[in-house]
Amino acid sequence: MSADAKLSPPATNFIRNIIEADLAGGKYAARRWGGRPGPAQAHAGATPDEEKIRTRFPPEPNGYLHYGHAKSICLNFGLARDYGGVCHLRFDDTNPEKEEKEYVESIIDSVKWLGFDWRENLYHASDYFAWMYEFAEYLIRTGHAYVDSQSADEMRANRGTLTEPGRDSPNRERSPEESLDLFRRMKIGEFPDGAHVLRARIDMASPNLNLRDPAIYRIRHASHHNTGDIWCVYPMYTYAHPIEDALENITHSICTLEFEDQRPFYDWLLERLAEGGLLQRPLPQQIEFSRLNLTYVLLSKRKLIQLVEEGHVDAWDDPRMPTLVGARRRGFTPEGMRLFAERIGVSKSDSWIDFSLLEDCMREHLNEIAPRRIAVLDPVKLIIDNYPADLSEDCFAQNHPQHPELGKRAMPFSRELWIEREDFMEVPAKGYFRLFPGNSVRLRYGYVVKCGGGVKDADGNITEVHCEYMPDSKSGTPGADTYKVKGNLHWVSAAHAHAAEVRLYDRLFSAASPGAGDRDFLQDLNADSKRVITAYLEASLKDAKAEERYQFERHGYFVADRIDSLPAAPVFNRTVTLRDSWGKT
Ligand code: ATP
Ligand code: MG
Repeated sequence: MSADAKLSPPATNFIRNIIEADLAGGKYAARRWGGRPGPAQAHAGATPDEEKIRTRFPPEPNGYLHYGHAKSICLNFGLARDYGGVCHLRFDDTNPEKEEKEYVESIIDSVKWLGFDWRENLYHASDYFAWMYEFAEYLIRTGHAYVDSQSADEMRANRGTLTEPGRDSPNRERSPEESLDLFRRMKIGEFPDGAHVLRARIDMASPNLNLRDPAIYRIRHASHHNTGDIWCVYPMYTYAHPIEDALENITHSICTLEFEDQRPFYDWLLERLAEGGLLQRPLPQQIEFSRLNLTYVLLSKRKLIQLVEEGHVDAWDDPRMPTLVGARRRGFTPEGMRLFAERIGVSKSDSWIDFSLLEDCMREHLNEIAPRRIAVLDPVKLIIDNYPADLSEDCFAQNHPQHPELGKRAMPFSRELWIEREDFMEVPAKGYFRLFPGNSVRLRYGYVVKCGGGVKDADGNITEVHCEYMPDSKSGTPGADTYKVKGNLHWVSAAHAHAAEVRLYDRLFSAASPGAGDRDFLQDLNADSKRVITAYLEASLKDAKAEERYQFERHGYFVADRIDSLPAAPVFNRTVTLRDSWGKT
């Protein structure tokens, strides 16, 4: 059963309630999805009329997607899936001057990796620059916008504060003819950057600062990666976004809470354009939800860039990074990410989610899908003194305890094995059931052995452990279970083991809220977040393919690194330990 199937029906939430009420009230019943009046006819989204709702995920291609974006992606695509709708992927590239190709490709890969499909609906904000420009002329002609020639400083000074109203610009009463003339000359490049801006004419005394005649167009002599040098005026994000939504016939425009104060402008703008017949009703509805905050994780783009540029991590896809490319390399699964998104739900209240919830979602899915294998991470030799030196035989280990249908595999057993260093103690601690002189344990899937003792080097380090095996105790043979032992150790045959690089990843930050207060967040980096070791793996792991996931018994879930693994030489990353052991060493 898939992680999604287990979850159905999805938990309800306030956004689902809104959508269900809209559908029940027939809000979109009369809507023609495919066509619309006015200039917007040229673009209406490529999906047919049966479609019920339409959402969008609108990343700005200026960085890599992170866990927070995953919440938004799962929400938007998930709603479209559950209500018979479509979700558009739209690159919000209103800002020229940003190199975007690397980010665009990575965003496309990550959304696909999460398991979502926008069908043919991949768009760019810059696809609509011509409409946005026409709409701006319409607003000028109808008295809803004017060209302001104050400097940026004057505009700021006249904007007022939360307690004081703003002051009208001396240009506020410019006639539509004069504004239109200036705007057209702005467009053809007559003026330098900053000489004029186009502003909506709303209310300089509004208690909502966003309604105090917000700027909607600015002069920018810059080349745009999609439109080249066609434009030297560019729309402001707050003006562009509602128009993009409306032109694409989005029904529910879902965004994070910081846009709540922008909603009145969103509605004001679309109302004006609909009044003029430039947009069809019903108009898209903006709905805000609270963003994801995760303990032990930073999701700020600026800080993530700093981590990469200053070399605190290896790259954007470093398995410790909270990016989706990092999550993928870490071995996190898309199913686990979607499970996480369902579990955290959506609401309007700000909250912190504990990182262990994300890890638990991964464990839950990995437990289901990951075949079991043996790896010795901190090896010491175990020598079975009474086992013939030239002999080896097969032991049989099950591939998945909950899925017997996945069968067993052969593991060679021989006189010299690797076991974990911590599985031997010369002087046992209280309650220690593993190897110590005189004690017997079972070598998992193999024989019971009785420990003779350890051999030490000049520094007192154990270099080998000796034992004797009971020839009639082999697992799976008659009478084997007459041996009652408490310890059950994993091992690999030294002659057959495959030595491999294994990277033990842990949380990137050791503080739940990195950089809280005035502290530099770099001071909260976990010095032990990456440890590279050479481990001994059972022979069958030698052929592991990139991105194959396994449970290494007793150690956790591991994935063959998708970048560094070579044929017959996989490199493994630890995805997550078997249990939450954070802070409990
Ligand atoms: P910026 O500060 O550069 O705008 P951003 O994180 O908002 O960064 P966008 O590319 O604008 O990046 O985000 C795309 C979408 O992802 C937006 O709809 C945004 O609301 C959503 N999003 C971003 N961060 C989170 C988060 N932590 N939780 C939930 N949704 C998020
Ligand atoms: Mg943003």
